[in-house]
Amino acid sequence: MSNRTTDWQEGNRAEIKVTAIQTGTANCHTKQEIGPAEWGPTRRKIGIMMDKEWAGPLPIYAYLVEHPEGNFLVDTGDSAHNSEKDWLPKLNPFFQKEVQIRVAPEEEVGPQLTGLGVDAAKDLKAVVMTHMHHDHTGGLNHFPHTEILADPAGLKAARRKRGLIGAVPRTWPRWFDPKPFVYDAGPVGPFQRSASLTSDGAIRIVETPGHMEGHVCVIARGIDHTYILAGDLTYRERNLMDDAVDGVTYSVETSLASQRGIKAIGEAEPSILLPAHDPDAVARLEAGRTMNASAEVSLEAPVNGMPVAAVAK
Ligand SMILES: [Zn+2]
Repeated sequence: MSNRTTDWQEGNRAEIKVTAIQTGTANCHTKQEIGPAEWGPTRRKIGIMMDKEWAGPLPIYAYLVEHPEGNFLVDTGDSAHNSEKDWLPKLNPFFQKEVQIRVAPEEEVGPQLTGLGVDAAKDLKAVVMTHMHHDHTGGLNHFPHTEILADPAGLKAARRKRGLIGAVPRTWPRWFDPKPFVYDAGPVGPFQRSASLTSDGAIRIVETPGHMEGHVCVIARGIDHTYILAGDLTYRERNLMDDAVDGVTYSVETSLASQRGIKAIGEAEPSILLPAHDPDAVARLEAGRTMNASAEVSLEAPVNGMPVAAVAK
């Protein structure tokens, strides 16, 4: 699944199509979306618990990435089970009070793929996990016959901490045993190493920890645009541009470094940022609106000493 010889700078691009699949909505408190800059991880979590304001409802997206070598599904969304009492850990106040998930059975990713004409058992090369939070693993039960790829560190952290970090291993299917990404495909932008999903090196996994241990982004280089399937690196593009970090991070510095790495890719090449919960993601995807274009209209911070508007394409 990897290719040591492909140099990202040389730029392999492929015919890539990305489709957003919305599996219901998630709501969280505003302090989960953004924690105040001066707050550390613990203060941020207390802040979420104290917060009365809601940030959403926000969409829960999985993304279908079509490449000439096959189709990849990035994340699996959440499941209708979350509407059932006690499905998520009932003693954890975070699940009981701080998140609201609404998914109808027909909104789960399995039936939606069928609606798109994609047979989950035959038409997917792999399911790719950005991280193991429940609103990304909720649809796993639709893929007992599909290869599933995940970051080994994220998997280990989820298993070790059980329900405490938003990942709920006891809701995973019994057969769940994902294949670990192999990070041997060389640097991508400022990221020192990557895993390649295709022999042409056009779809890469880069490590973007912070929101959760082992969080990754999927970078898919299409002919005209680079698509960044960002998971929960940020909840909205706006937050990433502002260097605003979410409330659930285990390390603000780590999150910020990950966000800035992705921002640098957006500055280097026309890239469409597609986080899992950004209400504007589909509009950007449909309009082909890149991170630089967004920066041009909304950022005042200088890049390399020049105003962004002057350097943005
Ligand atoms: Zn998450």
